[in-house]
Amino acid sequence: MKVHALCYGRRMGRRGQHFHGYDEDSGLPHDTAYFVWLVESEGHTVLVDTGMRPSRAGELEYRAPVSLLRDFGVAPEDVDLVVLTHLHYDHAGTVADFPGARFVVQRSEVDYWTGPWAKRIERERWLLDSESLAWLVESDRLSLVDGDEEVLPGISVHLVGGHTAGMQVVRVAAPDPVVLASDASHFFENLEDDRPAPLIHSMPGMYAAFDRITELAGPGGIVVPGHDPQVLHRFPPVADGIVRVA
Ligand SMILES: [Zn+2]
Repeated sequence: MKVHALCYGRRMGRRGQHFHGYDEDSGLPHDTAYFVWLVESEGHTVLVDTGMRPSRAGELEYRAPVSLLRDFGVAPEDVDLVVLTHLHYDHAGTVADFPGARFVVQRSEVDYWTGPWAKRIERERWLLDSESLAWLVESDRLSLVDGDEEVLPGISVHLVGGHTAGMQVVRVAAPDPVVLASDASHFFENLEDDRPAPLIHSMPGMYAAFDRITELAGPGGIVVPGHDPQVLHRFPPVADGIVRVA
């Protein structure tokens, strides 16, 4: 099985946007990258997250995920499974670009954004890609899952919560386990320093997610965070903005 991380965007953020708890470093610039992940197994092409739609790319140095994939030799119709780790706009934005894919989302993520309280969470709602949510709910290609599930042989999803109600991570079994943590750990530093990001659905859930990621990776495993430019240096590059994780 092959796992690649594809960087579709860069921007200079601030440390305070990525680490909970104000301190003297919170105002410092903090390089931020945006990824989708490609998992190729025998007979299957799996995309983990679909990135941001072009209309929301704003100040990002941005390449549309679909053209990044095309340059890498993957046509959008080749993708037969998309796992959406959560429904934030930088992860679930280009769903309509993949005409042959089934979409796996945690039921608790959809429930959170569509529940009776959804209209009252205005301060958070900008984070949702509401167009994608509407599109997915209308689609007959949405598979809702509850908790942990093997979605293809050797590829499993795991509900961890913490960052969002239905935040899930993806574990790829071979050769060494790879855990695509996405925003359950935005940066290596979140997990390594046991310091959550400030966008929090549940604080106990944030810490439980760290523990679960570590457990899923096991002693020889690889953890890939959601927004860390270090990913582009810790793994071997195969093309501009693309590294081979496994
Ligand atoms: Zn994100």
